[in-house]
Amino acid sequence: MPKRGSRGQRNKLSLTTLLIGLVSLSVLLTSTILLLASYQSKRQSLIDTTLQLNYTNANKMSQTIDSLFRSMRTSLQYSAKALSGTNEMSISDRDEYLDLLRNSSNYFNSMAIIDGKGIIQNVSPQRLGTAGKEVNTIAGVDISISQTPFLSEPYRASTTGRLIVIMTQPYFDGKGHYRGVIAGTLNLQDHNVLTMIFGSNNVDTEGSYYYIVGSDGKILFHPDRSRIGQDVRANKVVQKLLEGKSGQERVINTRGVEMLAGYSNVPANGWGVVVESSNAMLNEQVSGHIKNILWYILMPFVLLLMAVILIAHELARPFVFLANLVNKIGKEKVELPERKPHWNREADLLTKTVLLALADFQKHTDQLTQEALTDSLTGLTNRRNFENTMDQWIGEGKSFSLIVMDVDKFKFVNDTYGHQAGDDVLRQVANVISASVRPKDICCRYGGEEFVVLLAKTTVKDAYIVAERVRKAVAIGEVNHGLPITVSQGIAHFPSQARSSDHLFHLADQALYKAKESGRNRTVIAELQ
Ligand code: GH3
Ligand code: MG
Ligand code: MG
Repeated sequence: MPKRGSRGQRNKLSLTTLLIGLVSLSVLLTSTILLLASYQSKRQSLIDTTLQLNYTNANKMSQTIDSLFRSMRTSLQYSAKALSGTNEMSISDRDEYLDLLRNSSNYFNSMAIIDGKGIIQNVSPQRLGTAGKEVNTIAGVDISISQTPFLSEPYRASTTGRLIVIMTQPYFDGKGHYRGVIAGTLNLQDHNVLTMIFGSNNVDTEGSYYYIVGSDGKILFHPDRSRIGQDVRANKVVQKLLEGKSGQERVINTRGVEMLAGYSNVPANGWGVVVESSNAMLNEQVSGHIKNILWYILMPFVLLLMAVILIAHELARPFVFLANLVNKIGKEKVELPERKPHWNREADLLTKTVLLALADFQKHTDQLTQEALTDSLTGLTNRRNFENTMDQWIGEGKSFSLIVMDVDKFKFVNDTYGHQAGDDVLRQVANVISASVRPKDICCRYGGEEFVVLLAKTTVKDAYIVAERVRKAVAIGEVNHGLPITVSQGIAHFPSQARSSDHLFHLADQALYKAKESGRNRTVIAELQ
């Protein structure tokens, strides 16, 4: 194929590229829409679920804390009642009683019995060594308040500096006189009943965590222990908790990070529980989800592309095949192939039509070629074909003989019997010549009533035998129209007698002339010159 043509073809879009492009584009667009929609809905549903979950957890925890503090109160009430009835209980019995109480319930980190004058009577564990000391205030509140049940705000204990809450319950003698209080403390920074229930590590695997705020808006529990005691009233969620509300909300926390918070108020002590998850964790989950979808899309996409390549190839095949075929037909002799049906209607139709058209075209071309090389009257090879063949043989250096033949007195035949009869005679002479030579010899009507025969690999002697056979067959009346028909012939040989085709023909023609001269109905061999 010429260079310009192939460059031109390369610039054209192939069916395979076109289909792959279209499929890729549609898959890409669909996937993008799908991923965007999926991203949005997954994110929203994750936000909703997380908020709901956090609220549920906060609620459960607040209920647990609420019932815990009620149980603690009940426990203190029961002990106060027991103390009211056991006036005669000795100091050591009371120590044992407090130890038993503290260890059996595990509610309090420490317990104490303080009399009406503020003197600490008993303390558990006794190693704290505060027994006998006098206290005027509890949690910064005057001791006189302790005649009613009391729960302190979280505060720092003067002895240890640790953050604690204290719960007191008054007890009375048989006549209802105030005798003192039984007190229990909860050490917020150490192992206590809350950490026993909720665990000391309050960050779960998904990055959610909880913290507890006191009724004064200060943090009581936090995964970051350094934040315990910090005032977080600026937080919107904490403000709602302090108003006694529970719920769920997307908030920006005190550090400027967007959080999904569930919060719930504890009625028993005014505390609030907040369960929070960060948005970052959410994004991770959503991007994981999107990655999964991408994987799910990728596999079918690759399969689809392979199928498209296959289909495109199959679709293009008949077109490429037909293009190659038509291209070849102009240049060489092509055997038209058997038509194979194609599954694509258009391709099938085109193949069928083109093959039919090509077959028709080839038939016509063959016919025209045949006509161009044949003499229409006799069916023998014509002069052009004869000259081509002779030139070719000479070019190849083949050895052959040439017979030039002329019908004697043919004008007379025409004049006597008419032109039509003359044509008949010419056809019959042609038949006799064809029947007298080998199939591979070339018989030709040179023009008018002149014929030539090319005898491949034949000496002058053998050519003479053939020529005589023709002459005799004509003369004995095989060509008979009422008048005897005869032919005269001249023979020459290549390469022994001539150097070129013109020379060869000239020699044979001279020999023919001699045959005519010497009386016709004879064969003369050209003389060696
Ligand atoms: P000679 O023996 O010397 O060859 O005598 P001749 O009559 O054959 O020679 P001449 O060349 O005078 O005549 C040839 C005649 O052949 C003249 C022409 O009318 C006739 N002729 C040529 N071509 C055809 C043809 O195709 N059909 C018919 N019927 N006659 C033809
Ligand atoms: Mg003649
Ligand atoms: Mg003649």
